[in-house]
Formats: sequence, C-alpha cells, structure tokens
Amino acid sequence: MGYLTRTGRRRRRPDTVVGMTPAESMPSAPDALAPTVTDRLVAANRGYADDFADPGMDARPVLRVAVVACMDARLDLHAALGLELGDCHTIRNAGGVVTDDTIRSLTISQRALGTRSVVLIHHTDCGLLNLTEEFRFELEAEVGQRPAWSVESFRDLDADVRQSIRRVETSPFLLHTDDVRGFVFDVRTGLLREVSVEQIPAGD
Ligand SMILES: [Zn+2]
Repeated sequence: MGYLTRTGRRRRRPDTVVGMTPAESMPSAPDALAPTVTDRLVAANRGYADDFADPGMDARPVLRVAVVACMDARLDLHAALGLELGDCHTIRNAGGVVTDDTIRSLTISQRALGTRSVVLIHHTDCGLLNLTEEFRFELEAEVGQRPAWSVESFRDLDADVRQSIRRVETSPFLLHTDDVRGFVFDVRTGLLREVSVEQIPAGD
C-alpha cells in the first residue's frame, strides 16, 4: 500500500538508509546533489517575496469563514471558491474530516479570530474511500504499534459530509453553528454540489 511506503531523504547516503530495498535506497549518482522538491519551493518563494507587498492585514479572516477541506492536490480552494488572500481560514486534512484537531482549529478560528461560518468540503475520488480502519492494524503489523487515531475512512461521501456537519453543530466549544454547510467537490468538473442535511421527520 502506497501509504506504507517509506521514502528516504534524498541527501542521505544509501548505506545509512534503514528499511529500504537496495533499489529504493540507491539514488543514481548524478541525482545525489540534485535540487530536492523543497529546494524548488524555496527558490520559488524568493520570486514570490520579490513581488510581495505587505497587504497590511491583521489575522482575522475578512469573510469570517473557515473552510474545512480534504488535502487532495486537485482541490485548489482559493481558485475554486473565488477566495483572495486574507479571506478565510483553511483547515485541511486527509478526507476533510472533522476530527478533534479540526474542532481545535475551528474553536480558535471562531473564538480568537472572529470567524462565524463553516464550509465543509469533501470530494469525488477521495483516497479515504479506498481505506478502512483495517489500515491501523496493517500499520501495527508493520511497525509494532497501532496508532491512537482513527483513519476516519468512509464509503459514502454524502453521509460523511453530514457526519462532519453534525460534529461541528454539536461541538460545545464553538460559538457559531448556525451557518454550517457541506459540499462535495467534483475533481472532474470543478463544481461543488451541496449536501443537504437530512431533516428529522416531524412527529406525525
Ligand atoms: Zn480526499
């Protein structure tokens, strides 16, 4: 499983790499000092900073919204939602699920930094759809320790969006839970589809 693959740091000497097959641990010689992807990012930052003008903002998001979304590389949140620098908080993790740590960030977002609305975004073709809680036991078998965290995998995107909405709405720590909406982003079309919250039937 790809998640279990260990990747070595490229600058490490092959004979110091633990737990890798010789083929994986043996970068071709000319590559050894080639720029890493991080080097590339740092170089790009120099160009960014050259054109950067201090926007003079404080830390409170202009639109007073926090967006919780999957970390998926195909989801460009700012472009997809028409967001500008300073507009929102973005809280991202595998699946865009509402974990205790997501609640931690939302609580700080609302109580310390003034956001009031919450937008939850899952997406089609999410990696979490292909995992189960069995992943934790596979990890245990490999490394001798089972993680304390839940995988938070899901089979039904809409059901998990509803679950996430409920977790936000029922959190005792949040000040604002009257504007919480959930969506599925389609990675093929770029469109958001809103997930309607199931109505509790009136007692009739
Ligand atoms: Zn995803």
